[in-house]
Amino acid sequence: MSKNMAELQKKGEPLPEDVDTDDCLTSYTHIYSPNLLKDQVAFITGGGSGIGLRIAEIFMRHGCDTVIASRNLDKLKEAAKKLSAVSGRRCLPLCMDVRKPESIAAAVDETLRELGRIDILINNAAGNFLCPATSLSFNAFKTVMEIDTMGTFNTSKVVYEKWFKDHGGNIVNISATLGYKGQVLQVHAGSAKAANDAMTKHLAVEWGPSGVRVNAVAPGPISGTEGFRRLGGPIGEAAGALQSIPLQRAGNKTEMAHCTLFLASPASSYVTGAILVADGGAWLTSANDISMLLGIASSKSAKL
Ligand code: NAP
Repeated sequence: MSKNMAELQKKGEPLPEDVDTDDCLTSYTHIYSPNLLKDQVAFITGGGSGIGLRIAEIFMRHGCDTVIASRNLDKLKEAAKKLSAVSGRRCLPLCMDVRKPESIAAAVDETLRELGRIDILINNAAGNFLCPATSLSFNAFKTVMEIDTMGTFNTSKVVYEKWFKDHGGNIVNISATLGYKGQVLQVHAGSAKAANDAMTKHLAVEWGPSGVRVNAVAPGPISGTEGFRRLGGPIGEAAGALQSIPLQRAGNKTEMAHCTLFLASPASSYVTGAILVADGGAWLTSANDISMLLGIASSKSAKL
């Protein structure tokens, strides 16, 4: 960190603890009451890695049991073991593809059998990569829409019908800011997340009377994630790209988990249909210059 950066950081609040790998935190300081989610159950898609894994950990450190659900069961089982060990709470790893409604229905049935309830759904599963629109295959665009957008709808609808309709609940969708300015090389993910932001509001309106709140967190560049690595994070960091961000740094996974915790908990009991942008102000000032960013993308692929 440059002297200037260190000075800037001293002016801000201390950052919450994080580790760059898909491991649990070695120490954690509570900001909220440790009982904030006591005995609740959260169903987290893509909870075996990155931001989703940290959301699972922070929720469990606030008294919640979790289900982490995605395609790779081995990865999920390993994550669940680590999560239960640090928190003393239950974590159920379940194999599921958000593109396949019958696999979601089976996972939700299993959750209700094993844990008896669902209070919170986190739609975090997504696929992403950098690609210019001209090189993006029809199938690649479709796949991102299917995972990010249809996957969010499919999972929300199954959980609503099987539990939230009669008991209420809380949905938090993990979004992105890519569509706000039409971020270059991201037409697939930007379009998918823009549709999800509309869906957040539609479902908030339709399901509010059943006691269901629907909100979203839109992260900026978040360190220690596959997304950040693929999107040229460390290279951009070395090139000084993060200095154009008002808060002068990338966010960390624990910060995203804290925003998600706020929206999933009674701390935000009168909030629905909201999109909480958690990006250090990045989208307001970020570069969107196709030739410069194509340069970063091609120097990254040359190193792979
Ligand atoms: P990540 O570690 O790659 O997480 C994505 C997760 O989604 C993986 O655990 C993956 O698990 C799961 N997944 C993918 N396809 C799936 C499918 N068809 N069905 C079920 N699960 C599926 O990435 P991340 O960076 O933490 O991203 C998490 C969320 O934050 C995403 O919604 C992303 O768009 C958003 N976000 C991230 C950043 C960032 O800087 N990282 C910035 C803005 C927004 P399996 O492979 O086991 O299926």
